[in-house]
Amino acid sequence: MSARAVDHYGPGMATARTPSLWLDQLRADDPTALHPLEPLDGDDRADVVVVGAGLAGLWTAYYLLEADPSLDVLVVEADVAGAGATGHGSGWCSADLGVPGEELIRRHGLAGARALRAALRDAVVEVGGAAAAEQVDCGFAYGGSVLLARTPSDVQRVAEHVQVAADLEDDVHLLAADEVAEHVRAAGVLAGAYSPDCARVQPAALAHGLRDVVRSRGGRVVERTRALRVSPRAVATDRGTVRTRWTVVATGAGPALSSGDHRAVVPRHAVAVATAPLTPEQWEAVGLPRAQTFADDAGHVRGERTADDRLVVLSTAEPSWPAPDEDRAAGRLRDTLLDLFPVLDGTPLTHRWRATVGATRDGHPSVGLDTDGIGWVRGLGLDGAAAANLAGRTLADLVTGAGGPLVRLPWVGHRSPAWPLAPVRVLGNAVARVSAARAPRARASAPTARR
Ligand SMILES: Cc1cc2nc3c(=O)[nH]c(=O)nc-3n(C[C@H](O)[C@H](O)[C@H](O)COP(=O)(O)OP(=O)(O)OC[C@H]3O[C@@H](n4cnc5c(N)ncnc54)[C@H](O)[C@@H]3O)c2cc1C
Repeated sequence: MSARAVDHYGPGMATARTPSLWLDQLRADDPTALHPLEPLDGDDRADVVVVGAGLAGLWTAYYLLEADPSLDVLVVEADVAGAGATGHGSGWCSADLGVPGEELIRRHGLAGARALRAALRDAVVEVGGAAAAEQVDCGFAYGGSVLLARTPSDVQRVAEHVQVAADLEDDVHLLAADEVAEHVRAAGVLAGAYSPDCARVQPAALAHGLRDVVRSRGGRVVERTRALRVSPRAVATDRGTVRTRWTVVATGAGPALSSGDHRAVVPRHAVAVATAPLTPEQWEAVGLPRAQTFADDAGHVRGERTADDRLVVLSTAEPSWPAPDEDRAAGRLRDTLLDLFPVLDGTPLTHRWRATVGATRDGHPSVGLDTDGIGWVRGLGLDGAAAANLAGRTLADLVTGAGGPLVRLPWVGHRSPAWPLAPVRVLGNAVARVSAARAPRARASAPTARR
């Protein structure tokens, strides 16, 4: 990083990319935690091959083994479990899918949209239930989430959001400024909205715990093994080829693995920072007493209080084109953090990481199983922690032929068009976001000496 960039951040900023807080915590607790498992040892056979050991792949393996303990399930991971988006997220586990409510209704009708929303709300609780049952210590805390409105236009947008949420039977309430302060004491808040359907988790700990549970149930997990190509009854990897009946591709932002793969994803980038643990006095000023998460859409940030009392904040404002300027994005994040919580001025930022997630071309995640035995979960983007659990249960029902309500949800089999006006839309979004980020806020805050 250049000296100029260091000046831009000022004292206390983690000035270069670090491992994510979550992976760092795993390693601090157990220095061997991230040592990879043995790779695939040559050619092999399995009933089901799951490609990718992020949360989507691991939940799939977990629920397959729960449904049929006799299945031979092999998880193939290019790196180590949780090394992808999973280990680099913001620690939210929300019922969001990344598709606006109006669009869900337009695409799927009110009944379909409501069914999908209900399943996602359940998935948040199910993540905590499974973690509790399997004694996976991942700091799950069901604190809900607060959406902040800090300008008059934010207030209008939040009110519209609450109205659509009510149509979808989501439990979202408008909050006055003093009610917001019971959850989070951010500066300049005019109003907000609260939803209970969000939890805080340590995502890398959840992934590693799940990996261990899958192995203890007889599933096999091989790491440092990259799938090169998937065909209807075989998976070619850089360590050997596996004959299989079913394959589930859960590779996040990974490249397409089969010819004519219409499910290809476009990568999107995000940057996150973590503070050092805050003092009790700082937490008194910030709030989040029940580990609530919060989002300031106008500032393009989401945040949460970690189990070890840090604040983690993620910028959702990264344009996917042109290539992200990570330094600038991290600097903006820091400025927004101080704008929200001036009490944090001078608090060291110990971690700063960037990650790539996979989004579909129409922005709509999907899950499915083709007649050729190849299943997929695609495009979970920045809202996949609970959706990955729903995807895993759905894929287990599809593979085992159990049927049931999950396989009828409208994201099952959804096809993202190969080439809509995505590049134009992405470019437009990028310009709009950059302009918004640079525009002075209607409610200006006093600059501090360290900004
Ligand atoms: C910065 C950031 C913030 C986020 N914030 C939120 C949030 O607030 N709320 C929320 O719900 N979600 C959030 N997410 C998303 C969430 O983390 C993911 O959607 C979720 O963890 C599911 O990820 P996944 O399993 O689909 O993908 P990944 O975790 O990326 O897993 C895919 C795995 O496949 C492996 N792989 C890829 N190609 C191959 C191959 N050819 N062969 C073998 N293995 C391969 C990768 O190494 C990786 O381990 C965030 C993500 C990021 C990065």
